[in-house]
Amino acid sequence: MAYSYDTENIFAKILRGEIPNNTVMESEHALAFRDINPQAPDHVLVIPKGPYVCYDHFALEASEAEIVDFTRMIGAVARELGVQPGERGAGYRLLSNAGEDGVQEVPHLHVHLVAGRRLGRMLSPAS
Ligand code: 5GP
Repeated sequence: MAYSYDTENIFAKILRGEIPNNTVMESEHALAFRDINPQAPDHVLVIPKGPYVCYDHFALEASEAEIVDFTRMIGAVARELGVQPGERGAGYRLLSNAGEDGVQEVPHLHVHLVAGRRLGRMLSPAS
């Protein structure tokens, strides 16, 4: 399947600097910023800078440098927030919605990193 990327999606606008964001971290290939509607005390979105719709698209077409940078940034954000499990932090959850059944609202790959409270079971009933 060919992936079609909408260059007018909200995260593309954030990447172009057309919409402000609360940046946590930035690297050559990735950006992490706070979610505008946080579901927990810490709710950060990590996105690649490249035009990828969802995770399988990214895994198929991104360069190794992009994949390494993006993956490492997710871990670095957890450490930056101090939520990595162990002595310092109480843990976190990663989530990446894709497509209709995943109820993806913004069609630019993003991983949600959610932390700062007990998060409960992974899924709630469909709504
Ligand atoms: P999805 O449902 O696609 O996995 O999640 C999209 C996320 O993007 C939601 O959690 C929503 O709150 C967040 N979001 C939507 N628009 C903006 C925005 O303009 N700025 C920021 N920082 N987050 C946004």
